[in-house]
Amino acid sequence: MPSDLVIVYHRQPYEEVEEDGRIVLKENSSPNGIVPTLKSFFGAVDHGAWIAWKLAEDPSNPDFEQVIEVEDDYGTYSVSRLPLSPHQVREFYHVTSKEAFWPILHSFKERYNYDPVDWPNFREVNWTFAEAAAAEAAEGALVWVHDYNLWLVPGYLRKLRPDLRIAFFHHTPFPAADAFNVLPWRKEIIESLLACDDIGFHIPRFAANFVSAARSLFDIDAVEREPVPGKWLSEGTALMERTMPVRLTHGDRSVSVSVTPVGVDVAYIEDNARSDDAARLTAEIREELGDTKLILSVGRTDYTKGGIEQLASFERVLEDNPDLIGKVRLMHVSVPANRNMAVYENIQNEIEQTAGRINGRFGSLDWQPIALISRAIPFVELVSYYRAADVAWITPLADGMNLVCKEFVAARVDGDGVLVLSEFAGAAVELGSAVLTNPFSNRSMDSAIVSALEMPEYERRTRMASLREVVHGNTVRDWRPGRLSIRKPGVAA
Ligand code: UDP
Repeated sequence: MPSDLVIVYHRQPYEEVEEDGRIVLKENSSPNGIVPTLKSFFGAVDHGAWIAWKLAEDPSNPDFEQVIEVEDDYGTYSVSRLPLSPHQVREFYHVTSKEAFWPILHSFKERYNYDPVDWPNFREVNWTFAEAAAAEAAEGALVWVHDYNLWLVPGYLRKLRPDLRIAFFHHTPFPAADAFNVLPWRKEIIESLLACDDIGFHIPRFAANFVSAARSLFDIDAVEREPVPGKWLSEGTALMERTMPVRLTHGDRSVSVSVTPVGVDVAYIEDNARSDDAARLTAEIREELGDTKLILSVGRTDYTKGGIEQLASFERVLEDNPDLIGKVRLMHVSVPANRNMAVYENIQNEIEQTAGRINGRFGSLDWQPIALISRAIPFVELVSYYRAADVAWITPLADGMNLVCKEFVAARVDGDGVLVLSEFAGAAVELGSAVLTNPFSNRSMDSAIVSALEMPEYERRTRMASLREVVHGNTVRDWRPGRLSIRKPGVAA
C-alpha cells in the first residue's frame, strides 16, 4: 500500500527479540528516544512506511522478508528492512560514517580517516535506501530522511521520484565550510542535500554553517535570513547566532532551511521521576551518599563527549580544593557504543586509567572520588540518579544537541539541582540558564564545577525553574519535519 509519509532512518523502529526460539518485535527499550516520536507521525496519515537496514549474512537469500507490515499503538505501517551484508555495514557505518564523517561533523579534522573509505559502497547503500523509499511513497508523499549516513538519499530520490516532498534532518552538528570541505565528496553531498525541499538542523549555527558550505561549492542565488528568536539568544556564548538562513535558491529550486531543536519526552520522564520506584531508588542513593555531594556525568564513550577532559578537570579541582576530599563524588557514566572500533576502545581505556589514577591518588578505604560506570544504565534507573544528583556535569567538546542535559532538567520535578553544560552542546543555545562552561579552558571548567557545588539554594532553584520552562516549552512532541506539513498540501487536517 503506498504511503503518504515515509521515514528513512537507519535503525529499525522496534527491537527484535528472541522468545521461545521465535523472533518477536518489541518496542524499543529506550522509550524516550526519537523513534516513538517519529512513529507517532504515522497517526496523521492513512498509511506510513519506515525504511531501515537489517544485517543479513546473505543479502541475496530469497527467504529474506524485506517488507513487513507492523501494527502497534502507532497504527499500521510498512517497514522495509534493507538487507546489508556484514561487509556493507562495516564499510557504510563503521568506516565511512564513523571514521570519516563523524570527526569532520564535530570539527576534529585531525581524527579524520579518508584512506579506508569505500565510497562506491556508501553510494550503493544510499541508493538502496532511496529505491526503497521511492517504492513505498504515494504520489506527492513526504519522505523524511534522517542523518548524515544517508546524505546521498535526497539526490537519488529526487531523480527517481520528482513528485515527492523531501525533508532531511541532521542530528549532529554541521561544521563550518573549512572543516566540511575536508571531505573529498563534499560537492556530491551538498548537491544531494540541495535536492531537498527542507533541510533541518538543531540550532541556527548549524543551519548557517550548511549554507556557507553550500555557497563555497555552488552558486547559491539568494539566501533569505531572519533574526534568531530571542529564546535562543544567550549573549556571548559560543554557538550563538544573531540571524539565521530560512530559505535559499539554487537554480530553479527553492529549499527551506529550518531550525527545530529536538526536545525530550517531558511527560514520560516526569512520570518516571514521580514514580514510587524512582522515589525509593533516589532515597536509597541519597542515604548511601549521606552528606557527600553527587556530581553526575552521563554520555557515550566518544572523543566528542569530552570525558577525559572532564576527569582531568575533576583531578585539578580536588588538588586545588582539599576541603572537597571526602565531600564530593563523581559518578561518571561512559557507555561504549561501538565496541569493535579501535578509537572508542582507546578512549575507554584512557577513561578507565584516568579514573583509576584519580581514585588511587585521592581515595581511601571508605571514600572513592569517582564511580566509573562503563555500561548503559536502564532509563528508569537513570532518572533516579538524575533526581539524586546535586550537579549534572555535561561537557561535550561538540554535540549536535545532547539529550542527557534536557532529561536531567525534566527529571528535576523537585525544582532543585544544578546543570553545568558545555557551551559547545547544541542544547546550550536553549538552556542559557545553565552554568555554561567552555570545555577547552581549564579555568572555565574548574570554576564552573566549583561554583555549581557552592551554589546557594535560591540561585539553584531560580536557574532550574527557567531551565524547566524551556524543556517544557519544546518537547519531543513539538518536533516537525521543518516547514513541510505531514499531510499533503490541500488535504484537510
Ligand atoms: N542513556 C541511557 N543510559 C545510559 C546512558 C545514556 O539510557 O546509561 C540514554 C540517555 O538517556 C539519552 C541517550 O542515551 O537519551 C543519549 O543521548 P544524547 O543525545 O545525550 O547523546 P548521543 O549518544 O545521542 O550523542
